[in-house]
Amino acid sequence: MGARALEGKTALVTGGSRGIGRAIAQRLARDGAAVAVAYARNEAAAEEVVERIRKDGGRAFALRAELGRHGDAARLWAAFDAHAGEYAPGGAVDIIVNNAGIGRSPDLSSLTEDDFDEVFAVNVRAPFFIVQQGLKRLRDGGRIINISSGAARIALPEIMAYGSTKGALDTFTLNLAKELGPRGITANSVAPGIIDTDVNAGWLRGNPQAEAQAAALSALGRIGRTEDVADIVAFLASDDARWVTGQVIDATGGSGL
Ligand code: NAD
Repeated sequence: MGARALEGKTALVTGGSRGIGRAIAQRLARDGAAVAVAYARNEAAAEEVVERIRKDGGRAFALRAELGRHGDAARLWAAFDAHAGEYAPGGAVDIIVNNAGIGRSPDLSSLTEDDFDEVFAVNVRAPFFIVQQGLKRLRDGGRIINISSGAARIALPEIMAYGSTKGALDTFTLNLAKELGPRGITANSVAPGIIDTDVNAGWLRGNPQAEAQAAALSALGRIGRTEDVADIVAFLASDDARWVTGQVIDATGGSGL
């Protein structure tokens, strides 16, 4: 993979203002892509990511896209058009990274229908319609990368609804790969294990016992870092991954082997 493997490409990263999405946005920009950093509410955080990318010589812009309500995909693409300008001539895009997600859900006994609807709306319905409405813009040879979870293949009853959303996302990925293959577009999922992000901060950071247990899950003996996931996404986005499609790429550092 060359140093500027994504030169001339445009990428959209949902949930790009923090955590794994931020690392993905920064890595794709470092590889030469112009990156749309989509955020839910925290404009300041998204602008900080854009600033960091620009300081490092990259190209990026922020757009507001709160997901989980009907019409969210249409609003996202309208915001993309309003902000993209020179970064995405004609509104075209090469790489769509569906990263935004609600990272937890109540266990089965306390789950409400509203909880269920919310986590599915953000983690499954939004990616589905972002892609559907993005297909006219996605150039042939493009990339769809869905951020799934190791929780789709390991039983974790305490977050069963969340895990189920990622299982649905992986099935979506599989079907996209078949549907879009004739256009040279690949679709893959990346499935992280425990990554040190804000969503895990409450129970993980500063709790040596939890940190040790989380690290021990991985065959490599440490907790995942956002860059561990971003580097895999960068590979999938690059031409080197042109023959990989319809796959779930494990990004758990060999957890639960
Ligand atoms: P995070 O909570 O730090 O980031 C989640 C991102 O999604 C944020 O940018 C947030 O603004 C965005 N988001 C959440 N709800 C949204 C909404 N309604 N509308 C628009 N954006 C919304 O979490 P993270 O750890 O960086 O997670 C990123 C992705 O990775 C998620 O899809 C998550 O399920 C997945 N994942 C994370 C881990 C982990 O251990 N951190 C493990 C497996 C999978």
